[in-house]
Amino acid sequence: SDLARELKASIRTIPDYPKPGVLFRDITTLLGQPRAFRRAVDELVHPYAGDNIAKIAGIEARGFILGGAIAHQLSAGFVPIRKKGKLPHETVRIAYSLEYGVDEMEMHRDAVKPGERVLLVDDLIATGGTAEGAVKLLQQMGAEVIAACFVIDLPDLGGRAKIEALNVPVRTLMSFE
Ligand code: 5GP
Repeated sequence: SDLARELKASIRTIPDYPKPGVLFRDITTLLGQPRAFRRAVDELVHPYAGDNIAKIAGIEARGFILGGAIAHQLSAGFVPIRKKGKLPHETVRIAYSLEYGVDEMEMHRDAVKPGERVLLVDDLIATGGTAEGAVKLLQQMGAEVIAACFVIDLPDLGGRAKIEALNVPVRTLMSFE
């Protein structure tokens, strides 16, 4: 559709960022266009309207921007999932795999209650390592992760299967091969 094309055209591609050979998909150009930003949020939200979502969990940092808007739209709370050392209260931490190496992410121990329905949000899924870590943290704390949604899928990197293996359906708005 025209709207889907307009949304995809709002993404800027930066060659060789952050390192040679990588094509970085930059969503700041989407965020900066009122219609595209609104459209992306509306598209991410609509399957979950009336679905009793208690919390949106957003992955630092671009997942915070989308997640805040989605939480407002769904009248849900917002839970930040952050790089280690950034959250002030008692946290739970998990190691996750990056393309090269590992890192750790955290969330507050009291951020979700057992049985709460949580929607996970980030801007992009590539290998799925980041989202996998976030889903595992949420599930460890007893949350019911009802879906993980992203603006962009890089299907060649296989992230979707990693998340679906945790019994979490994945929704994305567009792919770049
Ligand atoms: P993964 O863990 O799935 O391999 O990588 C996804 C994470 O890295 C997400 O948090 C995402 O924001 C970031 N990321 C990796 N590649 C890109 C990219 O090309 N564009 C954007 N915007 N984020 C990326």
